[in-house]
Amino acid sequence: MKTLSIIIPCYNEEEVIKESYNRTKQTIIRLPNTTEIIYVNDGSCDNTRLLLNEIADADPRVKVIHFSRNFGHQPAVTAGINRCKSDLAIVMDADLQDPPELIPQILALQEKEQANVVYCVRKSREGDHFFKRLTAKMFYRVMNSMSEVKFPLDTGDFRLIDRKIMDEFCRLKERGKYIRGLISWIGFRQVPFYYKHEARAAGRTKYPLNKMLRFASNALIYFSNKPLKLSISLGFAAVILGLILAAWFTLGKIYGFSNAESGWTSTVSLIIFFGGVQLLTVGVLGQYIGVLFNEIKARPEYIVEEERNF
Ligand code: UDP
Ligand code: MG
Repeated sequence: MKTLSIIIPCYNEEEVIKESYNRTKQTIIRLPNTTEIIYVNDGSCDNTRLLLNEIADADPRVKVIHFSRNFGHQPAVTAGINRCKSDLAIVMDADLQDPPELIPQILALQEKEQANVVYCVRKSREGDHFFKRLTAKMFYRVMNSMSEVKFPLDTGDFRLIDRKIMDEFCRLKERGKYIRGLISWIGFRQVPFYYKHEARAAGRTKYPLNKMLRFASNALIYFSNKPLKLSISLGFAAVILGLILAAWFTLGKIYGFSNAESGWTSTVSLIIFFGGVQLLTVGVLGQYIGVLFNEIKARPEYIVEEERNF
C-alpha cells in the first residue's frame, strides 16, 4: 500500500485550523494507506503556531514546519513537498475550500488511471465573490494563451502528486515557483478530477488583491516571454505610426493640406504617446530584470525556524 502525505500551508488560520484538522483526520483514519499530515506554518502571527503544536503533540501522524516569517503560499507548499518522503502527496488549503472528504475518491482515481498527477478542477466556486471568480477565470485563460506550456483551466494547487513528480519538482532550482504551472510542465500522466470548490469554512482570505496581483504577474513572467515580444510589436507599431505622421506633415506642408506649425495638439499627443510606449516597454523589461535579479541572488525560498515530529 502506498504511503500518503497531506501537505497543508497555513497562514493565520486560527479560526479554521482545528476544524480543518478534525475533518482531515476523520478522512485519513478510514484510509488503508499509512498517512501523515504536514502542516507548514507560513509565519502566522496569530495562534496558528500554538494550535498546530498542540495538534502535533497529541497526534504523531501530524508533522509541522514553522517558517521564520511569512514567505508566501508557494514557498510553504514547496517546503511541504521538499520534506515529504511518502509515495503520494496531496496538497490542499487549510480553509476547507478543498474538502478533505474527497481524498478517497482522488486516491481511487489515481489508482484506476495509474496517474502521476490528479489535478482538481473547480466545477464551481461556491464561496468566492464575483470579482475573484471573474479575475481567476480571466487569469487562467490569459496564462494559457501566453505560455508555451498548456495548463488545465480553473485548477489551483489542490492536487495529488506521486513520488516521480515530487523528485522532479525537488530538482527545480528556480525560486519564484508557480507550482501548478511547474507540475504541468513536468508532464507524465496527469488526469483531472472535478469538484465543487466550497466556501471558506472560517476566517478571511489570505490572498488580498496586492498578493493576488503579484502572484499573477509572477506566474506570467516565469512562464512566458510574450510580454517582451509584445513590447517589440508595440515599438514597431509606434515607429510606423511615427513615419506615417512625418510623411503626412511633410507632404501637408508642401501641398498645403495641413498647417503643422499650429499643431500644438498633435505635438503634445505624440510626446505623450511615445513617452507612454517607452515607459511601458522599459517597465516590461524591468519586470524581467527584477526576476533575474532575484534568481541571481539565489536566496533560499524560505527559512525554517522549527520542525515537529519529523
Ligand atoms: N497561505 C499561506 N501563506 C500566505 C497566504 C496563504 O500559507 O502568505 C495559505 C492559507 O493559509 C491557505 C492557502 O494558502 O491555506 C490558500 O490561501 P487562501 O485560502 O487565503 O486563498 P484563497 O482561497 O482565498 O485564494
Ligand atoms: Mg482559500
